[in-house]
Amino acid sequence: MTKSINDVVVVGAGPVGLVTAIGLAQRGVKVIVLEQNSAEVAPQWRGSTIHPPTLEIFDQLGLAETIINGAVKVELLQYRDLELPDVVNFKYSSISGLVKFPYRLQYEQYKVLKLLRDTAAEHENIELRYQAEVKSVTVSPASVLLEIETLGVTEQLETNWLVAADGSHSKVRKSIGIELSGFTYPLPTTVVATAFPFENYFSDLAPVSYWSGPLGRLSMIRTPDIWRIAMTTQAVDDSTERGTIEKPAADFVAAINLLLKLIPGTTLSDLDLKQYEVYRSHQRVAAEFSFGRVALAGDAAHLTSTNGGMGLNSGVQDASALVTALLAAIAENSTEPITSYASARKQFCERFLQPTTTANHETVDNPDQATRAARLAKLAAQAADPAQELAAVAKASMLTDLALQN
Ligand SMILES: Cc1cc2nc3c(=O)[nH]c(=O)nc-3n(C[C@H](O)[C@H](O)[C@H](O)COP(=O)(O)OP(=O)(O)OC[C@H]3O[C@@H](n4cnc5c(N)ncnc54)[C@H](O)[C@@H]3O)c2cc1C
Repeated sequence: MTKSINDVVVVGAGPVGLVTAIGLAQRGVKVIVLEQNSAEVAPQWRGSTIHPPTLEIFDQLGLAETIINGAVKVELLQYRDLELPDVVNFKYSSISGLVKFPYRLQYEQYKVLKLLRDTAAEHENIELRYQAEVKSVTVSPASVLLEIETLGVTEQLETNWLVAADGSHSKVRKSIGIELSGFTYPLPTTVVATAFPFENYFSDLAPVSYWSGPLGRLSMIRTPDIWRIAMTTQAVDDSTERGTIEKPAADFVAAINLLLKLIPGTTLSDLDLKQYEVYRSHQRVAAEFSFGRVALAGDAAHLTSTNGGMGLNSGVQDASALVTALLAAIAENSTEPITSYASARKQFCERFLQPTTTANHETVDNPDQATRAARLAKLAAQAADPAQELAAVAKASMLTDLALQN
């Protein structure tokens, strides 16, 4: 038997689905969130960056204070080199007239997810159903029919509005036949976490620093728990899409050893590296971000290189735009606002997100020392010019209107 409901249905209790659900619920809309996994949030490594416009969205949901209090505040974007003395800083204060929060935060995605799940669980307009897997979706002009399996029991639900926030392998997207085209970068990223106190050895080290070097670009990011060091590396095992490896690629070890050479007397064992994570970055965009009464958001709609930390942020920004669109769609009983949402967010991906993260990714492959020195000199000139500094920080902060003007 099919149960018909008036609630908006959100597939996926990831950050994007939950921001959509909480945004709608706070404006009086009843929402059902279907999540295939259990409620438990494992301390998994994924995104950790929160850019200023995303923090404003969390602020509108009443969550900014908790996040700011738990996060590492980043007031400088730093570029330096493993072999050259230059250190270039771009100040977030350059955008202070443009945003409410002129800084970037590092706060692990699993903590954001836990906060969102707890907030959603407490809201009377949200029904969170865990271990409820959406198996298929059928769209008609008047409604959307879902087949859901919860602990072996199958049921059918009919709703007016569906949000596909079910991640990169989105079953909703596949079920309605929307292609996710693009490419996967050939080389993986290797990431390690260490509690080693780098900040005690480099007095000028910013919590986010990008180090060029002869083997590629090493990024160092301080989160509340640890330092994360990441680099695009040679593949150790071609079959590894994402997961933990015991032995890292030789170029990654060599790059870390170059970093440690700057701290006399230290060796790799001082970092106490317990595991190496590898993952592959993609540049992919869905052919359409909506289909009638179904809207796609987050990784279900687009995947991007993690260089610059824009994946999670762009998804949360989709969710915020989608809340506005859904409120209008419900009020007018029209799919038009959803179609406009879809077109605007696809354009955002094509005009800003993909070109920016592609450029960020390309700076990774730049090993020649003279080229690196020239690049650092160019960055230093930009940082010294207030207009150029503002433009660079605006772009890194996803202030898209401004970034697209430059
Ligand atoms: C290794 C790694 C590192 C990353 N690093 C960064 C970074 O540094 N900075 C950054 O900004 N981004 C980063 N990202 C990207 C970021 O994690 C994603 O963009 C973000 O998680 C997208 O959120 P989402 O809610 O769209 O999808 P997800 O977080 O994937 O959530 C989707 C949810 O849907 C559920 N689901 C899926 N299918 C179904 C179904 N059929 N029925 C019910 N539920 C379903 C899933 O269980 C999941 O809970 C990284 C990603 C990875 C994998």
